[in-house]
Amino acid sequence: MVNSINSQQLYKLQGGIKLPHHKNDSLQNGLSRLPIADKVYMSLRINRGNIAKPLVKVGDNVLKGQIIAKPDTIRGSYIHASTSGEVTAIKQRATASPEADISTVVEITSDGKEHWVDLAQTKINQSYIDSVTPEDIINSIHEAGLVGLGGAGFPTHLKYSSQNTIHTLIVNGAECEPYITCDEQLMLDFPDDLINGILLMMKASRASQAIFALEDQVGNIKSNIDKRVKDRNIQNISVVKVPTIYPAGGEKQLIKVLTGLEVPSGGLPLNLGIIVQNVGTIKALSDFIVQGRPLVERIVTIAGDCIGTAQNFITAIGTPMSHLLQHADFDQDKAYRLIIGGPMMGYSMPDCSIGIDKTTNCILALSEKMTHHYGDTLPCIRCGECVNVCPAYLLPQQLHWYIKGENLEKAREHHLYDCIECGACAWVCPSQIKLVDYYRYAKSELKYLDYKREKSDKAQIRHEQREARLKRLKAERAAKRKRTRRRTSNPDKIKQDLNATMERIQKAKAEKNRTTKNQKTGDR
Ligand code: SF4
Ligand code: SF4
Repeated sequence: MVNSINSQQLYKLQGGIKLPHHKNDSLQNGLSRLPIADKVYMSLRINRGNIAKPLVKVGDNVLKGQIIAKPDTIRGSYIHASTSGEVTAIKQRATASPEADISTVVEITSDGKEHWVDLAQTKINQSYIDSVTPEDIINSIHEAGLVGLGGAGFPTHLKYSSQNTIHTLIVNGAECEPYITCDEQLMLDFPDDLINGILLMMKASRASQAIFALEDQVGNIKSNIDKRVKDRNIQNISVVKVPTIYPAGGEKQLIKVLTGLEVPSGGLPLNLGIIVQNVGTIKALSDFIVQGRPLVERIVTIAGDCIGTAQNFITAIGTPMSHLLQHADFDQDKAYRLIIGGPMMGYSMPDCSIGIDKTTNCILALSEKMTHHYGDTLPCIRCGECVNVCPAYLLPQQLHWYIKGENLEKAREHHLYDCIECGACAWVCPSQIKLVDYYRYAKSELKYLDYKREKSDKAQIRHEQREARLKRLKAERAAKRKRTRRRTSNPDKIKQDLNATMERIQKAKAEKNRTTKNQKTGDR
């Protein structure tokens, strides 16, 4: 493992593709705060499946920022009310996730007052940074309900609680999917909060340096951050521009570009002594420490050729997509696809009443003309284009072949789980094969098979334990019987035992008589 990284040197990304940006419209219209919707729908589903446990019931009044659900396990995250009002339902509902999975959702009808819980505020300066402990910051990260806002939704406190020694914090400001500008907007509008957040994350991880990675087409953000870092005399934060190539902003890909290091298959950046953190998550930590505000809102880009006013909105978590669309001049008649996320890794939403969650970075409304079409799928011609662009060193056509033949274990052996579902392979495939659909299908099938296997393994272990217990009891009973038999087959031993027992009884009787007599004498 290396102990630090030379931030001046860049390395070549394996594969990748150049994509049109489509970012200017939303950036030109800037950032505004979306008015609160009548109702918000707070999903209790976190990080691909963990469900937080509700702490409220229907009819309860809640304040903005109040904890309404707590994690069942350490892998979960707290959920806070994103508006003040009344809990009007807790029910199963579609959520902002691939396949619009059904999960528990708390519906809050807003009172429109936006009354906050009491907020503890702190001023961040050097003496605060010096005095606060890493453990205090990690607790704050957990209490604030922080998860990776770049899309994965991984509970942030877990990264900082690992036993690995961390030397570098990589600040990920390199959003590389077309249309999505929420991170760029945040870097433009909140540079000081970001720097505070970076200092806190460095303290929490004990990292000695931070590398702030930006795409090379983001205008003057670099000089703006550089100036602030210099003004505050901070020595160990460096800002680096990386080439705009998709998917250079992926966690493992960014590490490769900045360090030349490969995260091992099945491993994590932590194994290399690195933590990668999205800029949104870093600002959210600063908001919690400085203003006491937990994660109840985030910046969401609304864009696409069916949106009249593409822009970025500060949006309450749980806000229905329809509310965002209404405020951005959505052309419903023209719309062909409504996507959460970008055109490459996002997923289509069947219903715009779904509430956004902490990971929703963009709502994209595209006409048929702007949708990347997959025509009739043709057989794979083994052209190798998909291999050339895969940033994860995979053989996409081989994986496709195994999955099509239902040979899922073979796909697993060929590192299916290293696939980041970036879609670059499908984008270039001349046979228009929807490769990522195959990989997603295989991953979810394998997850289910693993679950079933684990269940049956546990049942097998229980069965074996029961058999062993019965065998042990049987052996103990047999040994006891044997001992009894041995005694009964020896008349001298029986006689000896009997005499000893009679002697004990007589002794006990004599002792009792003596005690009774003494008591009577004493009474007189
Ligand atoms: S790009 Fe498509 S056709 Fe070419 S090898 Fe890959 S899967 Fe086959
Ligand atoms: S979707 Fe997976 S297999 Fe295809 S290019 Fe991306 S990482 Fe490679």
